[in-house]
Amino acid sequence: MREKVTALTPPDNNKLKLSKIKTTAAGIPAALSSMKHGITRMGVAKTVKSLMMVNQQKGFDCPGCAWPDPSHRTTFEFCENGAKAIADEGTKARVTPDFFKKYSVQHLSNQSDYWLNKQGRITNPMYLAKDSSHYTEISWDDAFEKISTQLNSLQSADNAAFYTSGRTSNEAAFLYQAFVRAFGTNNLPDCSNMCHESSGKGLGATIGIGKGTVTLEDFNKAELILVIGQNPGTNHPRMLTALRDAKNKGAKIIHVNPLPESGLNRFKHPQDYMTANLKSTTLADIHLQVKIGGDAALVKGLIKIHHQKGGIDESFIDSKTDGYESMIESALETPWDVICMDSGLSRQQIEHAGEMCANSNATIACWAMGLTQHRNGVTVIQEVVNLLLMGGHVGREGTGFCPVRGHSNVQGDRTVGIWEAPSESFLERLEQGLGFQMPQHHGYDVVHAIKAMRKGDIGVFFCLGGNFISASPDTEATAEGMQKVDLTIQVSTKLNRAHCITGKEALILPCLGRTELDITKDGEQFVSVENSMGIVHSSRGGFRPASTHLRSEPWIVAQLANATLGDKHLDWLELTDNYDNIRNLMEKSLHGFEDYNLRIRNPNGFSLPNPPRDDQSFATDNGKAHFTTNPLPNVSIDDDKYVMMTIRSHDQYNTTIYDLHDRYRGIHGNRRVVMMNANDMMERGWKTRTIVDIISHFNGQTRKADQWIVIPYDIPSGNIATYFPEANCLVPLESTADISNTPTSKWVVVSLHESNSSQEEE
Ligand code: SF4
Repeated sequence: MREKVTALTPPDNNKLKLSKIKTTAAGIPAALSSMKHGITRMGVAKTVKSLMMVNQQKGFDCPGCAWPDPSHRTTFEFCENGAKAIADEGTKARVTPDFFKKYSVQHLSNQSDYWLNKQGRITNPMYLAKDSSHYTEISWDDAFEKISTQLNSLQSADNAAFYTSGRTSNEAAFLYQAFVRAFGTNNLPDCSNMCHESSGKGLGATIGIGKGTVTLEDFNKAELILVIGQNPGTNHPRMLTALRDAKNKGAKIIHVNPLPESGLNRFKHPQDYMTANLKSTTLADIHLQVKIGGDAALVKGLIKIHHQKGGIDESFIDSKTDGYESMIESALETPWDVICMDSGLSRQQIEHAGEMCANSNATIACWAMGLTQHRNGVTVIQEVVNLLLMGGHVGREGTGFCPVRGHSNVQGDRTVGIWEAPSESFLERLEQGLGFQMPQHHGYDVVHAIKAMRKGDIGVFFCLGGNFISASPDTEATAEGMQKVDLTIQVSTKLNRAHCITGKEALILPCLGRTELDITKDGEQFVSVENSMGIVHSSRGGFRPASTHLRSEPWIVAQLANATLGDKHLDWLELTDNYDNIRNLMEKSLHGFEDYNLRIRNPNGFSLPNPPRDDQSFATDNGKAHFTTNPLPNVSIDDDKYVMMTIRSHDQYNTTIYDLHDRYRGIHGNRRVVMMNANDMMERGWKTRTIVDIISHFNGQTRKADQWIVIPYDIPSGNIATYFPEANCLVPLESTADISNTPTSKWVVVSLHESNSSQEEE
């Protein structure tokens, strides 16, 4: 009999240690941390070999974020968090059938995400029978038999949903979407629905492409770089090298963030020590400590000053854009007191930054979740577009938009078809290339898929990678939905909470990692990925798989398709004998992938078409870049409430917890922490380590999470920060960004209540 499992991350009884906040990022501590993670998990030899292979032209792509590689590689092309991602995949620890015999699902659900991840690589396909409390081993054939029977017993193809995490390669993702569409649905929710969907929608509607327009080289040509709502020091660390190089070439950097992140303060490149260069580099020239949700007001202010101070590219505006007049009118009409109140910044601060924008001949704007995961995520990004279009800062050297992707192939997955709302032209091209009809009605994104599960409309939920339950908002609501599903299938490398919160029956299909050799009957195979700057390049594993039972993602998808549909659409099995076969299909089915098999063998891969970058053209309805006029969002909250944003620690990658040291912020051991403004704490009569319960408020609904330790932190008054996935249970399912439907994990209205057990001992 299966006992009740806990969806929420269990209470954290680790001791909280606080240390001094770091003012310099990376340096020797980063090198030591990289080695420590490597050697403790993989041993010396494998650590050295894998760190010399990662991000190299003949090596494997880092399974971490999607920051691009320079065309001229250095000996070591990795950062501390890349090293942790590799060590995590290369770990010697194993989760075997015996492990699952020992631990029930209920027991596993009571463990922390850190503990679950540390158990290591899953070695065999596993099955959780109905009402059973323990997973048991299953053969691959029996697993596919179960899935195909379940899929083919569904009333409609729309009673199934197929999730993708951003680590999936182009080849696996293309085959997956082909299978899902051959099966008859567009239910392809993916992790970008929860992260850069707002960027895709915001940019797509204004410049005609839902991707960034800069190259790595542009950073060396920029005069001004805006880094907004992003913490590259932890989430895209090699970006700090590009920022340092830009600074050394005279660029200015404006850092916009409610938190003073060390990564934008000073940077010390660990490899500099090898040349006895001990100097560190100050990165941000100014830090605008905006209130959570105050970015739109800030950018309106910058637009006003830019308009006043000049630097307007009139010939670009006249010839290449529309909508300028109404946009500028709305900005000029926006009162300064509203701008200062909403942004939490002084007019002087905004004027200083605005002048820097006006004086720059080449500006790049970078952003991440701090802009996308808000109700106005799409329109605030369009305000940033407005600001840069004023100076014609797109499609010229040193200029452009840079939404930085946090997952190594999240952009690639979307490009090759992981898209629940594909355009007609995209489906048409697929039909031509694949030779079978595509379902035309749009499918479920992440939030809609959860709602459909909660209504009992999803009989089969297939996840290609990821940790859906922990990455999603409203943890308990999502869990209730998933537990209504008849069969959930999780393709994974390591253990996580998605293996505990399952459907009535569940399967775990263990796959090869990015670092591992993928050998088929045609020999060693390589896959490809697309980085944040639209460069598609190859990735070759180099290590013996963690288990002989592991299979590649393309193989798993092909077997699934063949078992479910037979070969009437495609000869799925033949396609995975040699991935050139898959790429041949992609050449015929996708715009920009011509001569794919030839160009992917270029040492640095190839760039996909990017009209704004390539020739300052815009694939919009009228071929013009669109200025947009957007009202400011209402950011006022009741006096007894706070705005909470969820963040990552430095020892975390998405929902994967590598360790318990948020080194830059000086927070160690315990993750159930509330970073709060010291004056706000004093007002409540609270000391450091006071224990509180958090309640979120949304449309009359409340959600509660108990036992959080309050610590003073440099954050604007009325704002607090907590770590996800622990705080995701407070993010309402219905609270999403307009247009993109991205959960508002950076904007959650909460109240704080002193908990019965009031103080954590020192
Ligand atoms: S910056 Fe991103 S891609 Fe590069 S090594 Fe670090 S985690 Fe990996």
